[in-house]
Amino acid sequence: MNELLKILDREFPDPKPSLRHRNAFELLISTILSAQCTDARVNTITPKLFPRDCPCLPEDILALGEEKVRQIIRPTGYFNSKTKALMGCSAALKGCQVPSDLESLTALPGVGNKTAQVVQAQWFGLPAFPVDTHIHRVANRLGLANSGKNRDKTERQLKAAIPKEQWSRLHLQLIFHGRKTCTARKPKCSECPLRELCPWPGKNKY
Ligand code: SF4
Repeated sequence: MNELLKILDREFPDPKPSLRHRNAFELLISTILSAQCTDARVNTITPKLFPRDCPCLPEDILALGEEKVRQIIRPTGYFNSKTKALMGCSAALKGCQVPSDLESLTALPGVGNKTAQVVQAQWFGLPAFPVDTHIHRVANRLGLANSGKNRDKTERQLKAAIPKEQWSRLHLQLIFHGRKTCTARKPKCSECPLRELCPWPGKNKY
């Protein structure tokens, strides 16, 4: 494990969230929009949604109105349910701060466990390990998890295996490794810095 963490630290020494945001509310909104959509695409949409000169507040989304919001976020996919989540979160958080505890975050409309943990880890700096599709795949290939299709199990296994203080950093590093090298199709195993440590039998084909 230590060797793996060392290699990922060398590869990604300063992992930063890829969703652009200026406050917790913008991160929450961007994370909701990133479901089934790339962070790069979300980053092209949010400048149309957020005020240019100051961080977005729930009141700004409410002022745009549901139809305008739907129209702006359409390219991110699942725009009807995302619009409902954005309007619902904005109404719930009007005049309030985004909460940092998991229970309050997941009580917000359209905010699941993963979205809540992204906000906890990436804005509040709390120990959290949101498991996305990249982390799930990479963790299973690397033998950090053995969870089939069950992402909740991946989260539990990663949290059990990795010291808490590493969670937030490692979750970003695994995402970046999954995007860059350990891709879903045709992973670049022959040039992977983790190849020696990786038990995935398929690595010899790539
Ligand atoms: S060797 Fe291949 S499967 Fe293993 S971590 Fe690297 S890219 Fe992923």
